Amino acid sequence: MDYEAIFHQSVERLKMERRYRVFADLERDAARFPYAMWRPEGQDKTPREVVIWCSNDYLAMGGHPDVVKAVTKATQRHGAGAGGTRNISGTHHPIVDLEHELADLHGKEASLVFTSGWISNLAGISTIASLLPDCLILSDELNHNSMIEGVRRSGCEKQVWRHNDVAHLEELLQQAGQERAKLIVFESLYSMDGDIAPVAAIADLAAKYNAMTYIDEVHAVGMYGARGAGICERDGVMDRIDVIEGTLAKGFGNMGGYIAASASIVDAVRSYAPSFIFTTALPPSVAAGAAAAVRHLKTSQGERDQHQKMARMTKHALSAAGLPVMDNPSHIVPLMVGDAEKCKQASDLLLERHGIYIQPINYPTVAIGTERLRITPTPRHTQAHVAELVEAVVDVWTTLGLPFTQASIIPLRRDEPAAVAQCTYPELKRAAE
Ligand SMILES: *Cc1c(COP(=O)(O)O)cnc(C)c1O
Repeated sequence: MDYEAIFHQSVERLKMERRYRVFADLERDAARFPYAMWRPEGQDKTPREVVIWCSNDYLAMGGHPDVVKAVTKATQRHGAGAGGTRNISGTHHPIVDLEHELADLHGKEASLVFTSGWISNLAGISTIASLLPDCLILSDELNHNSMIEGVRRSGCEKQVWRHNDVAHLEELLQQAGQERAKLIVFESLYSMDGDIAPVAAIADLAAKYNAMTYIDEVHAVGMYGARGAGICERDGVMDRIDVIEGTLAKGFGNMGGYIAASASIVDAVRSYAPSFIFTTALPPSVAAGAAAAVRHLKTSQGERDQHQKMARMTKHALSAAGLPVMDNPSHIVPLMVGDAEKCKQASDLLLERHGIYIQPINYPTVAIGTERLRITPTPRHTQAHVAELVEAVVDVWTTLGLPFTQASIIPLRRDEPAAVAQCTYPELKRAAE
C-alpha cells in the first residue's frame, strides 16, 4: 500500500474537477479594513495592497476599538488560554458574562457557548434530537453542513423539506402526526443566495403540529433586529422559536458559537454533548471580545444601517452595469458566473489585475452551474470602493467573455447615491444617468 500516493491522487482528483482550493495569504489591517496586504504565491512575494470584498466579518467588528480593547485587557488580566475544559477546570468569568449577554439578546432563559458555530450546531442538534424519544428531524434542504452533521450524529430519522417550502413542511408534519417528537431545523438567512426563511409561518406550523424548532441565525446575528438578535427579532418571533443558534465569528467579529434556549434545554446540552464536554473552552480574551461586540451592537444601529446601504449600493451599481447580480432581501451580493473554471479565473483576475479579493464559490458549497462570486459589502466600504469594484468586474467580464444581462436594475432608496456615477468608464457613467 502506497499511502502517500493515495493522498496525492485524492488532491489531483480535486484539481481535475476544478474543485481544488487555494487560500490567499492576507494580512488584514484592522484600522484600515477593508484593506489588507496580499502576498502572492510564486516568485514575486512582494506584498500588495488589496481590498477585501468577501469577509464574513460583516460589520467589521473584529477591528472595532471596543472589541480590541476588551480582548487586550482580558489577555493582560487573565492570560491567553482558558486552562482546560469547563468540566475539568471550571468556567472563567468572561464566558459567564458572555452567556448572560447572549441569553438577554435573544430573550431566552439561558445560553451556552461553544468553540465555534459549527460545533454549536453539531452539539445542539444532535443532543436535543437524541434526547427526544423516537425524534423525527425535519431539515431544510439547503441547511449548512454543520446542521447536517448534527442531524447525522443524532442517529434520528430525518426528512428533508424543499427549501423554504412551508407547504411541503406541513405535509411532512401531518404525516408524522401530533404525537411523535419532531424537531424542525432551518436557517433564518441562507448565506449563498441571501434569501430569508418564512420564520413566522414555520413557527405557526410548529405550534399546530406540536413540533420543536431550531434555527441557525449565523448570518443574521448582529445585523438584523433592533438589538442585533437576528431575523427572529426583526420578525417579532424570538419567543416562538425554541432554540436559536448563532456564531460569534461573523457579525460579531470574534470566534465561537452558541445556542440560546430555555434553562432546561441548555442544561441538557451542557450535560450531554461530547463536543462541549471534552474540549477546552474559549479563552477569556475571545469571550470578552465577543461580549463587547454583542453589547455594542445592542444599542448601536449605525453599523446595521450602513451595512444595508452599502449592500444596496453594490447591488444597484453592479446591476446597472449589466452584471448578473442575484437579487435578494439581504446583505449578500451573489454575482453569478455558472462555471467553476471561469469563476476561479474571474477571482484570480480581480486579485492580480485589480487588487480586489473575492474568493470563488464553487461546488460543493453551491450546486454545479451556479458557481459565483459572493460579495459581502461592509460598513467600511465606500461609494468609491463600489465604483472601483464595478469597473474591475466589467473589465474581467469583458476579458473572459462572460455574458452581461439586460435584467432590471436593483433599486436604491431615494436618499441613497448611485456609486456608478463615480465610475470612470463612460459606458458606466451613462448607465447611471
Ligand atoms: C459559518 C456557518 C456556521 C459555522 O459557524 P462558525 O462559527 O464559522 O463555525 C454555521 N452555520 C452557518 C449557516 C454558517 O454559514
